[in-house]
Order: sequence, then structure tokens, then C-alpha cells
Amino acid sequence: MDLLNTLVDKGIRRELPTRDEALAVLATSDDELLDVVAAAGRVRRQWFGRRVKLNYLVNLKSGLCPEDCSYCSQRLGSEAGILKYTWLKPDQASQAAAAGLAGGAKRVCLVASGRGPTDRDVDRVSDTIKAIKDGNEGVEVCACLGLLSDGQAERLREAGADAYNHNLNTSEATYGDITTTHTYADRVDTVRKAHAAGLSACSGLIAGMGESDEDLVDVVYALRELDPDSVPVNFLIPFEGTPLAKEWNLTPQRCLRILAMVRFVCPDAEVRIAGGREVHLRTMQPLALHLANSIFLGDYLTSEGQAGKADLDMIADAGFEVEGAGEVTLPEHRAAAHGGCHGHAETGTEAGGGSGCGGHGGGGCGPCGQGAGEAVAQEPVREASRGSEARTDLVAVRRRGAGTDLAPNA
Ligand code: SF4
Repeated sequence: MDLLNTLVDKGIRRELPTRDEALAVLATSDDELLDVVAAAGRVRRQWFGRRVKLNYLVNLKSGLCPEDCSYCSQRLGSEAGILKYTWLKPDQASQAAAAGLAGGAKRVCLVASGRGPTDRDVDRVSDTIKAIKDGNEGVEVCACLGLLSDGQAERLREAGADAYNHNLNTSEATYGDITTTHTYADRVDTVRKAHAAGLSACSGLIAGMGESDEDLVDVVYALRELDPDSVPVNFLIPFEGTPLAKEWNLTPQRCLRILAMVRFVCPDAEVRIAGGREVHLRTMQPLALHLANSIFLGDYLTSEGQAGKADLDMIADAGFEVEGAGEVTLPEHRAAAHGGCHGHAETGTEAGGGSGCGGHGGGGCGPCGQGAGEAVAQEPVREASRGSEARTDLVAVRRRGAGTDLAPNA
């Protein structure tokens, strides 16, 4: 297939595909799907071999958010039955992180619900970062605290944070349909602040919110232009009670095409399968490892994932290997830059000028394990337009780990 040969060549050269090529990946038939996976898998192996990076989420503060992101269980007015608690203490967070690290994770993602941190919150998180770093040599720490004010990214960097996650989530054109309390531009600004402070930027998307193929391509091209080091791809978890509860639009095949498209557009970025992996890919999860080089181990922010051991078994059974703490995740050119696909400009890409495509899926303000959002006491931002009924059989609210007395799943 000429399209796939072209995309492989471009991916290996870090050259941006055309929009029509990216759209064509999303439009491939089921008969072509394994060829698409094999082609994107060649690009994945070029930059990341057969390694799978494991990341572990610690939800520092759950629920009670004043923002109205329609995909999120932690949003204003949510009546979803999620765990609600305020800031974990540094030793509590460190204990939760230790479980993930013992399970094989090399990055800990510290996420807090809310519009953005106060300076006092940055102090709290700085203490937590230090506690985790002091107890675990070589661990990477990513913070995901929402919109950043001037100087906060620098303070997190000084405290030892390696990365900052803030997802674009969806295209600029549809952003106002998903959230009204902040803007797409606000999100772009925070990714840029993180990058400018020397943090490795992590920024991604949520698929399955009723967007078009063009919207998906728009947000992935916008990410490529921002050039984050990591790109979490979330598949909407339609929590019962949220405005998007009936948005069951995704199939495993659709998820694989989306991951392949992201790999072709951001070939050398850490592409992470974030929230919704188990719910939407289901038995096709192992195929997705040929496309993404990173996953979350265990549970998400407000929902439960499959058992951590099942994640490890899946990686081994599919012929991949867990990336070790001493291994560098990013390709040499990107790791050296610490935060940018700087090669893009040199390779004549149309959108890849400066600074990269990165992000990590977060639940609080990002995607991983989006909390269930509830449409209570306010107009739903977006009515469910398709899909069937809420699927409580597929979506389990997190009841263990951080914020509970039960052991974490790792
Ligand atoms: S995604 Fe973040 S900002 Fe939006 S409602 Fe959820 S916790 Fe709040």
C-alpha cells in the first residue's frame, strides 16, 4: 500500500505526513488494519525498539473541581460516586508511588484536580516530589496540576520535577463544546510554560467525545507543533452521570487507527495509551503495544484498570519488554534536547517548528482515567449524541489505592 510505505519512510525521517495522509489512516478498512498496525509498528520500533515504559498515577487530590470539563468525573457539580479527598500528605503520596515503582513503573505522575495550583499547592507538591525522589533513586516525576501561573513551572522544576502534563484534549474548534470554564489557548499556554521552564512537556488528547476525523487530526497536528516529549492518548471513559455517559463511539479497531495516526504524526514522541485502554481496546490491547511505547500500570485517577500483573503479563506475552529504570526512554536527539522534537524544523515539516508534541494523560486535568463528570446543577456542556446506554459493566470507579485504606493496584 503506497500510503503506508510513504508513512513509514516519513516516520523514520521524522517528517510530518500531510493531513490527507493522516486522515487516510483513520479511514482505512478493517481488511487493511493489520497492515496499518505493522507499518506504524515499524516506526515505533525505529525510535523505541520493543520497550514499554510503565507510568504510575497518584491522584493527590480527587474530585471537588470548580471547572466543567464534560468528560471528567471530578468536575463542578459531579455526583459520580468517585473518591473525593483533599491533598495527600507527602508520605502518603510517596507510599502510593512506591507501590507503582515496585511493580515496574519508572515514572510517577502526580495529579491533582482543580483549575490550577496556588503557590501553596506548589509548595505541597514540591515537598511530595522531594519525598518521592529521596526514596527512589532515578525515578522520573511528572506533575499534572492544571493551568500554571508565571513562575510555577520553574518552581516545580527546581523541586525536582522532570515533566509536566497538560493535555490539549481536543481540537481548538471543538474545545468550547467540551469545556466552558477555560479555553484551548489557556491549555496551550501552560504546555508552553512547562516547556520554557525546562520541564519535559507531556500533552495529549481524548478520543471518543463525538469528534470528527478532522478534529482528531487537528489536535494531533497541534500537538506536533507544541512538540511535547510524550503524548498520552486517552479513549473516553463514559462515566455514568456525566454529560458524555452515552458516547460509546469507539471500537478496538478505531482505537488502533487513532494510535497509528498519532505514531505517524509524532513518530519519535513517547506515545502513551492512557485512560480507556481496557474499556475500549479490550482483548486487542496487545496489538496496541505495536503502536504506543508507554502505558499506565494499574489503576487510573478515578477508575480502575486491569490488575498490574495482567499489564506485565500482556507485555511479556506480546513479545515486548518493560523499560528499565536505567534506560533512556526518548531517542538520543530528543533526550538531549530535554523537551522538544527539535529535529522537526530541520526535516522540513510543515507544522513542526519549534517545540514538540508532548503531554501525559491525566485525570485531574487530563486524560488518564477521566473522572466521571455529572451534569448536575448546570447545563451539560455537550449532550450525548450517539452510542447506546451507560455501561457500568465496563467502567469501575476506583475504590483502592491513594485516598483509601486498601492497597494500590500495581
Ligand atoms: S479535567 Fe481537570 S480541570 Fe477539568 S474538571 Fe477534571 S479535574 Fe477539573
